[in-house]
Amino acid sequence: MRPASQTRTGLLRVSVLGDNGRVSPANPSHLPTTASEELFARAQAVTPGGVNSPVRAFAAVGGTPRFIRSARGAYLTDVDGNEYVDLVGSWGPMLLGHAHRDVLAAVAEAAAGGTSYGAPTPAEVDLAEEIVARTPADKVRFVSSGTEATMSAIRLARGFTGRDLVVKFAGCYHGHVDSLLASAGSGLATFAVPGTPGVPAVSTEQTIVLPYNDRAAVEAAFAEHGDRIACLITEAAPGNMGVVAPQPGFNGFLAETCARHGALFISDEVMTGFRVTRSGQYGLDGADEGWRPDLLTFGKVMGGGFPAAAFGGRADVMAALAPEGPVYQAGTLSGNPVAMAAGLATLRLATDEVYAALDKTSGLLQEAVSGALSEAGVPHVMGATGNMFSVFFVEEGVTAVPDFAAASRQRVGAYAAFFHAMLDRAVHLPPSAYETWFLSAAHDDRALDRIVSALPAAAQAAAASDVATGS
Ligand code: PMP
Repeated sequence: MRPASQTRTGLLRVSVLGDNGRVSPANPSHLPTTASEELFARAQAVTPGGVNSPVRAFAAVGGTPRFIRSARGAYLTDVDGNEYVDLVGSWGPMLLGHAHRDVLAAVAEAAAGGTSYGAPTPAEVDLAEEIVARTPADKVRFVSSGTEATMSAIRLARGFTGRDLVVKFAGCYHGHVDSLLASAGSGLATFAVPGTPGVPAVSTEQTIVLPYNDRAAVEAAFAEHGDRIACLITEAAPGNMGVVAPQPGFNGFLAETCARHGALFISDEVMTGFRVTRSGQYGLDGADEGWRPDLLTFGKVMGGGFPAAAFGGRADVMAALAPEGPVYQAGTLSGNPVAMAAGLATLRLATDEVYAALDKTSGLLQEAVSGALSEAGVPHVMGATGNMFSVFFVEEGVTAVPDFAAASRQRVGAYAAFFHAMLDRAVHLPPSAYETWFLSAAHDDRALDRIVSALPAAAQAAAASDVATGS
């Protein structure tokens, strides 16, 4: 078997990085890393790959993952005492920055009252009301992770419609749900094959995987299987193959196609929800265009850094959920009072001013990154939706990345060189070319200055890696 690197999308991708599936950093770090290295060695002895979620292991960029001791505002401090500007933000939740004073106070107060009861609480009602007020969902149910949210939404869609088939897009990640860890089969509108060992073919045989932003493929799949499709699930704006924005009108087209065939449209806002606007991606398209998803999934920001997520949507669909209806779903820690307090404090602080400031910071940074790469002659495409963005190191002449096939042609070696040059200058980017860069309201001028001053050298490192690999 050829070496394969497991991306966070859960899809196995053959590695171009080297015999052991890892790359060596172009520049060994100038920052001290002894304590991280020691912890990584200990971790690998007791945990597979030394990490509790694969992308954290740095396999896609090489080198030693930094073990974090603490975080505040826009900064992470690792166990060697290095302080980094953080552009991962816990993969999205930390909209306000780390250790926000008011969020910590809400958490401390909630925890002092006991950490879990297994009974309803006022905090759950408050947070549900806040989410219903911000989004097109009539009702929500809390769970503990985004994976649980999408898994439950799909079960509900199947229970509600009495149909089995699920349509998803290649490159969209919805958590590690068996039926969604699927790769496209051969040809369009055919049934998918498992994207990882451990998922039985019977799970993915009920899934159809299509190319993103491809209306004709969606039309063809619904023309052939429309009366058997329970739901179509999509990232509201994909951020798990890098950021690939929906083409104008694409989400509305999906909503309309589903409605025409009696299927439910599930918009996965786990990453975009409460991040790109007060509601999420819906605030950038659905709210203006006059359509709404039948079901939505949320996570990340709404948990304020704690394990909380939700799914919600149309009242008549949600009424099919136990105990009101027959579709079963439950959770020991669902609606956990400490997580609810963190989420509520976060959302209450996520005002229009916060989103306006984030948009501005993100625009400045996108320009700076693109400018530095152009200056160094590095071909690239910026992918963005609202304040979420990422950079594709494309082949010369490529000007757009509309889907996973295009995203997969990016030059991951150039990203690895860029990543390590930034890390060495104390800027912590996502350790994979397929991930979104996340800013927070705590990224002020000082943090931005540090990022911007690191960019020219990192762009040079990417250019040099192109020369070295002959691309
Ligand atoms: N959906 C989307 C769009 C996501 O980005 C993620 C996680 N990155 C998930 C679902 C799964 O969430 P979790 O990791 O909390 O299970």
